Amino acid sequence: MGPIHLLINLHENNIFMIWFGLVYETKKDIKMLETGMKLQDLHNLKGKFKLFSTSRNYSIEKLLIDFVSWDFDDSDEAFIFFNQFYGGINIKGLSSPTDSTYEGVRELSNQYYAKNKDKTKQIQADFRMAIDFVYNINSDERLDGLTLKQRLYIFEYYYHKLSIYCDIIESNSGLSFNYEGDFEEKGTNDLDYLINYIKEYDPNGKKLTTGRFFFTNNIWTVYYILLYHLVFIENQTIKKCKNCGRYFATTKSNSQYCDRIISEGKTCKEIGTMLSQKNKEQEEPVYGLYRQIYAKKAMLVKRNPDIASYKYEYEEWKEDAQRFIKDIKVGTKTYDDFAEWLGKNN
Ligand SMILES: [Zn+2]
Repeated sequence: MGPIHLLINLHENNIFMIWFGLVYETKKDIKMLETGMKLQDLHNLKGKFKLFSTSRNYSIEKLLIDFVSWDFDDSDEAFIFFNQFYGGINIKGLSSPTDSTYEGVRELSNQYYAKNKDKTKQIQADFRMAIDFVYNINSDERLDGLTLKQRLYIFEYYYHKLSIYCDIIESNSGLSFNYEGDFEEKGTNDLDYLINYIKEYDPNGKKLTTGRFFFTNNIWTVYYILLYHLVFIENQTIKKCKNCGRYFATTKSNSQYCDRIISEGKTCKEIGTMLSQKNKEQEEPVYGLYRQIYAKKAMLVKRNPDIASYKYEYEEWKEDAQRFIKDIKVGTKTYDDFAEWLGKNN
């Protein structure tokens, strides 16, 4: 098992990462267990698990936000985390997972958390505290006017939480550019070939990295490296979703909900939009007037069951009012129109 290899590309706000995780092998392909997999998906895994070197490109905040959002008391989420970072979470005394079945890996995961759950949650709590401070999640006025880097500096100077996770084996100064992955090195002594190859390989220059790399054997160090680089991105902030309570990154100062799919294929953002629409309606004074008139008319019908015209008028009024509410929702009528109509039809 090699160390975790982390290559930071600050120009593009992304990382290229190589590490050892457990992957699930079927006849067709191999895949990593992913965030958001459901219990039934997990329990249907009939193939073998292997320890495998995995490489991925991520935006810098992705893995850190995943980590601080895991619920380690949810055994399925804890299991997925265990699978993804088996090679980096410093597991002593566990047997080799090679060619394990689902049940076998589940057992390994249980053994790991039996001993290390509290520690894992403690490290997560430290990173949550750092993020809460740096991104001022709790709206502490004293932190206004400070940059993200300044806040991280103050946090670490005062609380000393993160330096213990700074377990880097090797790194470089990063004063060079690099291509990674499938870049073809042969022919680099032929200038014309090189120029044309790069124009074709990387037409918009997005694959070029700053060549700043880190090696570590410790997944917690990866999170520190990510946080350290994240604070360079001043136009992005991290917030807590008002629906699910998990962290998310955004460049919009007014966004309140994350993009996670929460229920019935709906994201928190979609649910949030519906909720705030409802709240807006509740707060709109014209709705109070509407409900008042509604109640008055219903009472009139109830008290006079023998007068047919009351009932007829009431039904017609209800229908017109419902149409008004629909029109307001799609934007063809306004609350003022509705108030005016209610004034004439009460
Ligand atoms: Zn959410």
